[in-house]
Amino acid sequence: MILNLEKLKEGPNEFWKVYTAEELELSDVKDFEVVSGIDVHISAFKSRTNITLKIQADFKLKMVCSRCLEEFERDFSEESTYYLKAGKEEFVEEKALVDEDIYTLYYATDELDVKPLIRELVLLAVPMKPLCKPDCKGLCPVCGVNWNYETCEHMDKIQKIDVRWKKLIELSQKMDIQSQRES
Ligand SMILES: [Zn+2]
Ligand SMILES: [Zn+2]
Repeated sequence: MILNLEKLKEGPNEFWKVYTAEELELSDVKDFEVVSGIDVHISAFKSRTNITLKIQADFKLKMVCSRCLEEFERDFSEESTYYLKAGKEEFVEEKALVDEDIYTLYYATDELDVKPLIRELVLLAVPMKPLCKPDCKGLCPVCGVNWNYETCEHMDKIQKIDVRWKKLIELSQKMDIQSQRES
């Protein structure tokens, strides 16, 4: 969708569109698969030359759990806000100013292609290490059994070791903090 910024009326403007993964060039990414339409709601509030653009996107992704390697699907509802300011700078796709989820973009032309913004919204929603559920137990590193469904003879030993490792890591972190304070 190309927004014609010049033609927006003063005050609120609303747009709805459902994109396919192909339209947003999201069909060939390797970490996830878009398994729904990408339902986009745009509200643009214009006040003279300043425009506040809110993009909301609802979609469903299929990902692979980083612990148990099983595929799972999850619904996302993402939102991002952009302040558009008329400026001499060429329209920059990179954020000129990043303040949490609010971006300031400068525009020199009247037309704004919102597709790259929506694409980025989807990409940023994808977790670095997806988990099928927060407490996914993962796979046994010895025999590969999925501990979410089955148990195995290694479970007890490995989980005990895990607990000990965690304690050790916590201890070393505490010592780090202490030594930083002392130095
Ligand atoms: Zn999992
Ligand atoms: Zn095992």
